[in-house]
Amino acid sequence: MTDPCSTLAALDASDPLAGFRDSFALRPGLLYLDGNSLGALPRATAARLAQAVSQEWGEGLITSWLGAGWSTAPARIGDKIARLLGAGPGEIVAADSTSVNIFKALTAALSLRPGRPVILSEATNFPTDVYMMQGIEAFSGGRIRAVTVAPDDIVDRLDQDVAVLLLTQVHYKSGRVRDMAEITRRAQAVGALVVWDLSHSSGAVEVDLNGANADFAVGCGYKFLNGGPGAPAFLFAARRHHGATPVLSGWFGHARPFAFEEDYAAAPGIERFLCGTPPVLGLAALEVGVDLMLSADMAQVRRKSMQMGDILIQLMKPLCADHGFCLISPEDGQARGSQVAYAHPQGYEIVQALKAVDVIADFRAPDIIRFGLTPLYLRYADMADLVDRIGTVCRTRSWDKPEYRERAAVT
Ligand SMILES: *Cc1c(COP(=O)(O)O)cnc(C)c1O
Repeated sequence: MTDPCSTLAALDASDPLAGFRDSFALRPGLLYLDGNSLGALPRATAARLAQAVSQEWGEGLITSWLGAGWSTAPARIGDKIARLLGAGPGEIVAADSTSVNIFKALTAALSLRPGRPVILSEATNFPTDVYMMQGIEAFSGGRIRAVTVAPDDIVDRLDQDVAVLLLTQVHYKSGRVRDMAEITRRAQAVGALVVWDLSHSSGAVEVDLNGANADFAVGCGYKFLNGGPGAPAFLFAARRHHGATPVLSGWFGHARPFAFEEDYAAAPGIERFLCGTPPVLGLAALEVGVDLMLSADMAQVRRKSMQMGDILIQLMKPLCADHGFCLISPEDGQARGSQVAYAHPQGYEIVQALKAVDVIADFRAPDIIRFGLTPLYLRYADMADLVDRIGTVCRTRSWDKPEYRERAAVT
C-alpha cells in the first residue's frame, strides 16, 4: 500500500455499507473498536424504548402482553435471528443470558444422550462456557464430567463417551474461526451432539446452522447484534431436537402456561426452551439491533470485515516490528472472525492509554489487546487513523503511567 489514505478513502467512497454508520449514535472523533463486546447504540433504539415504556407499559399496562406482542417477543425476535443464522422459523428463541442458555442447551443435549458421561470443550473456551459445564458436573454428583482439552485436540478426543461438545465458533481472544459443518459432522459420527456458541459469530460472520446440520446453538444479543447492555441472548435447537427435556422447566416453557396446571408439560416447539417471564424492555432494544442487522447484506458485512482486518494487520506491521505487538489472530481473513488481536506485554496499559486518544479497544488477560471490527459503523479510513493513534501512544510511551497499571474490575 503506497498511499494508504487515498486507497482507504476510495474504499469508503464505494462501500455499499457506508450508509449504515448514520444509523448509530457515535460521538465524532471516537474510534470504537469494542463492538465485539458491546455493540454501539442504534439511533432508533431510544425512541423504541421510550414508546415501549410510555405507551406499552405506561398506558397499555398488563394488556400489552397481548396487545403489544410482549408474550410472543421471544419467538418473534428468535425468528428474525434465525434469518441471520440459517435457521428455520420456530428454531430460535431470544431469552435469558448466553450463560443460562448454555446450561439449557447442554442439559437438553444430555437428555438426548442418556448414559454418556462427558461434556467436552476446549480449555481456552470463554470462561463462562467452561464454568457452566463445571456447574453441571457438580450438580450431577460426578455422573457427568466436564472435560476440557487443548484447542487442536478436540476432534481426537471425540468418542462414544461424549454426550455433547460445546465449542465457540469464533474464539473470543484470537478470533479463530472453527469449521462448523466439519466439526459437527465429526462429533455426530461418534453419536455426540454439538452446542455452538455463536457469541462472536452472530452479526459478524456468515452462519448456516441448518446447512451445517447443527444441533444446538447459543449466542449474545449485545455484541454484533447491537441489542444493548445485558440484552437477551438466543438459543437455537434444531427442530429434530424439540423433544429434548428442558431442565429449566419454567412456566413460560409450559405447553399451556396460562392454564396454571399443577404439573410441568413442555411446550411442543422451541418455546420449551423458555423459562420465566421475558425481559420485555431488553427485547424491545434487541429487536431494533436485529432489524438493523437484517437490513444489511451479510455477505457484504463479512467481506468488509475481512478486508478491514487485512488492512489493519498490514498497517500494524511496523508497530509489530518496533513496539512489540504480536499478532495472535489468523492472518487469513477466511480463518478470522470480525476482530484482530495482539499480544503485548504492556497490553493493559496501552488499552488504558488509547482511551486518552479517543480509542476504545479492550484487554483480555493476560496480555491480549482486541480490536473488534464492526462493518456497519466503522470505515476503512478508521484503520489508518487507529494505527496512527496506537503509534503515537507507543512512540510517546504515554502508556507508561502508574494509573494505567492499576487493574479495573471490568476490562
Ligand atoms: C460474550 C460471551 C459470553 C457471555 O455470556 P453472558 O452470559 O452474556 O455473560 C459467553 N460466551 C462467549 C463465547 C462469549 O464471547
